[in-house]
Amino acid sequence: MKLNLKLQPIDTWLKKTSEPLLIAGPCSAETEDQLLATAHLIAKTGKASVLRAGIWKPRTRPGEFEGIGSIGLEWLKRAKEETGLPTAVEVATAKHVEEALAAGVDILWVGARSTVNPFTVQEIADALKGVDVPVLVKNPVNPDLQLWIGALERINNAGITKLGAIHRGFSSFEKTAFRNEPMWEIAIQLKTLCPELPIINDPSHICGNRELIPYISQKALDMDMQGLMIESHLDPSVAWTDAKQQLTPSALSELMDHLTLRKPEI
Ligand code: PEP
Ligand code: MN
Repeated sequence: MKLNLKLQPIDTWLKKTSEPLLIAGPCSAETEDQLLATAHLIAKTGKASVLRAGIWKPRTRPGEFEGIGSIGLEWLKRAKEETGLPTAVEVATAKHVEEALAAGVDILWVGARSTVNPFTVQEIADALKGVDVPVLVKNPVNPDLQLWIGALERINNAGITKLGAIHRGFSSFEKTAFRNEPMWEIAIQLKTLCPELPIINDPSHICGNRELIPYISQKALDMDMQGLMIESHLDPSVAWTDAKQQLTPSALSELMDHLTLRKPEI
């Protein structure tokens, strides 16, 4: 069975400014200063093509920072004006989609906790009808390829052809070295079913800690994934979310210098 998605090639809708494709930015937009300072440092590395930041954060347990909300969209707009970097945010409701589009966000992504829920995905898809914006769909938190495919299909059926997948690993009850097991075979199966679908790897959420990020990033490139989404914060030690897995922009730059691109087969 092949997947029948109507897609536009990624290089027609995501300008890669360096190799490999990198989407970078903080897990969460926290303050205007934090976002702008981080964005400038990331832009200065010259290695990121897109600035990411979470505005609405789907926290597993209540009582933690749930995102700065709509005000963060203004900060992202300013970051884009000042750095020239296109922006990407996670959307989980129709209202998020409408607000992000109204604020000029360039790329939307569906988070792992949304991909698991067909009602949520359909609500997002309905809000995207008639809109021409790139959308990236993270894998669901659980290792279910069909849910991932179903979410991609719902978004594609809404008319979104600038579509990609993000591989961010799968949760398990067993504690392992990774925060989310990569289970590479699931991403490989998706690639086999739909070779034209770009898959971007998210080593930050797979690893859960900085130390493993170079290993997973290189493995993703060796497996021919189309790019990386990596969380980067001006000072990860004080990050409000995902502190252990974020890299400073200079560590991110160094990582990118050390990754080797897969050589084309002769
Ligand atoms: C994120 O990108 O910060 C995030 C919440 O990711 P995920 O949906 O992969 O958990
Ligand atoms: Mn995060």
